[in-house]
Amino acid sequence: MPETLIKSEVDFEANGKHHGFLRLPHSVHRSAYGWIPVPVVVIKNGDGPTALLISGNHGDEYEGQIALTKLCKDLEPDNIRGRLIILTMANYPAAQAGLRTSPIDDGNLNRTFPGDAHGNPTQMIAHYIEEVLMVMCDYMFDFHSGGSSLIYPPTMLRGKGHSPQERAKLRELQQAFDAPYAWVFTSGGGPTTTARTAMGAAGRKGVISMMAELGGGGTVSPAILTMTERGIKRMLHCIGVLPDYQPDAANGTRELQVVGSIYAYESGLFEPFREPGNEIRAGDDVGAIHHPDEPWRPAISVPSCHDGLILCRRFPGRVERGDCLYQIAADTKEDDQ
Ligand SMILES: [Zn+2]
Repeated sequence: MPETLIKSEVDFEANGKHHGFLRLPHSVHRSAYGWIPVPVVVIKNGDGPTALLISGNHGDEYEGQIALTKLCKDLEPDNIRGRLIILTMANYPAAQAGLRTSPIDDGNLNRTFPGDAHGNPTQMIAHYIEEVLMVMCDYMFDFHSGGSSLIYPPTMLRGKGHSPQERAKLRELQQAFDAPYAWVFTSGGGPTTTARTAMGAAGRKGVISMMAELGGGGTVSPAILTMTERGIKRMLHCIGVLPDYQPDAANGTRELQVVGSIYAYESGLFEPFREPGNEIRAGDDVGAIHHPDEPWRPAISVPSCHDGLILCRRFPGRVERGDCLYQIAADTKEDDQ
């Protein structure tokens, strides 16, 4: 057992369905011997693959948190073959506060791996996921969204795979999830084994991993939630964990790679001219930044610096210099798929 101060109330090896908390010791003014309760559900039925399902890695991304919470109640051991380990609120303090980062230590869990067994709470969670949970797993699926500051159409994220077999499996999983878009990381096998993300952790432990961006804007849409729940069950069927599930016909996924972002160079109120899914050309005016505090000032135009498809856009109206307004993607080339 790797060194960790976090204690699981759940036996990961027991058959059946078990729930409880990962107890993260947290000694503070109001609670000298207390612990932070990171919820965990384990469903196991005999031999078979193990998949780790994560949401609440960023606490203000709700689609995955709702879909996985429903999945915990939907599935019984008889429905599955192998094992599911489900973390619905992976960075519990952040998710409890509805914030991207933890209010306890400002930690951004998805920039903290491989973590630290003796670090702050976010570092301890990252370390536990990478060193205790990942080593039990064959697959890891991490469900994100645009959170409070961005909005995405449902988009699967994956690397190209470190081997032909992994590449084939990732493409199969992408097809199974059946989101309208897939963002394929084109650098090396991606995600790199030095990445500080959950996918980076998976890569270091030889675990096949996928991530998703599912909506955002600090809310949940019924259509995206339906698509998410369907996609998760289709992926679990694809890896053999949900053998009796009958997937319906796929709608198809457009494979993209991100070519860059468009940033605000002025503070003010952002008026977007375009939406995710729109095609744009370099030089197009894609928005304006207004100054209601000086209404006589001309608006600042926001030109695109890329050709491509808008993958996500900023959600809140107020912007500051350095904020990402749009992320732009282009179709993958044949050898980047
Ligand atoms: Zn996220």
